[in-house]
Amino acid sequence: MSWITEYVRPKLRGLLRREVPDNLWTTCESCNQMLLTKELRKARNVCPHCGHHMRALVADRLKWTFDNGVFSRIELPQAPVDPLGFRDQKKYTDRLKDARAKSHEDESLAVAHGTIGGHPAVVAVMAFEFMAGTMGAAFGERFVAAARLAILQKSPLVVFTASGGARMQEGVISLMQMPRTTVAVQMLRDAGLPYIVVLTNPTTGGVTASFAMLGDVQIGEPNALIGFAGPRVIEDTVREKLPPGFQRSEYLLDHGMLDMVVARKDLPATLARVIGLLMCAPADVTAPPPPQKAEPARAAE
Ligand SMILES: [Zn+2]
Repeated sequence: MSWITEYVRPKLRGLLRREVPDNLWTTCESCNQMLLTKELRKARNVCPHCGHHMRALVADRLKWTFDNGVFSRIELPQAPVDPLGFRDQKKYTDRLKDARAKSHEDESLAVAHGTIGGHPAVVAVMAFEFMAGTMGAAFGERFVAAARLAILQKSPLVVFTASGGARMQEGVISLMQMPRTTVAVQMLRDAGLPYIVVLTNPTTGGVTASFAMLGDVQIGEPNALIGFAGPRVIEDTVREKLPPGFQRSEYLLDHGMLDMVVARKDLPATLARVIGLLMCAPADVTAPPPPQKAEPARAAE
């Protein structure tokens, strides 16, 4: 690669404003630098110039998280499709078909198991590329399956969130997934198993209002937007300027909503350390009395 192909060509392309750029180059949303997509993938979708953490695909996220990129994805239960017969400009069933074709994922949650730092773990990753990672009945079904698998394997559950919230095409059924996922988290707690949440950009709506904020350990990626309503909606409602960095990981860390903010490259090592600490603790899970059910998971602190 010469200076011409690496520097001049992308700059010229930017000037020409081609409508459909090929995917050889990616522009950083934060510093506007043109980056070679291949190099960017190697850097785990983190801009080498400004450190901006871009979105990651489910397949990449799983590969980066497990030891040597080795894991097994599990077969997940199906849920009733389009329970309300919903239609806006398009039928919901058509939107699902489009999302499947574009994302190569069949729903907004993928579940896999393998080892992290030598510790067995179940990892569930939300697919933002599938209808903005929204939560519907199928998602709930899968989340419960992930929790059950973790209990069966006596391993921790790690969830990577990235979501626009509940899926409006499923109306109240999507909202019902909030208590459902909460119950799944409680199942892990009753079994004395760690539940670790990694919040990535963006995590909003009903996801933030349920399982995403219930982790024994809450980790955020740098500068990830984490909140219920978006900052623009809040500004319009309260008619006040919000403080800088509002609803970003670092702000949430300062205000006690997160335990740590960890760069993407350091996530596997951090997860391995946290899992090691929580799993090796002498947790008494043999016969916990009912009022102290949540205690065994905290014994490692
Ligand atoms: Zn950048």
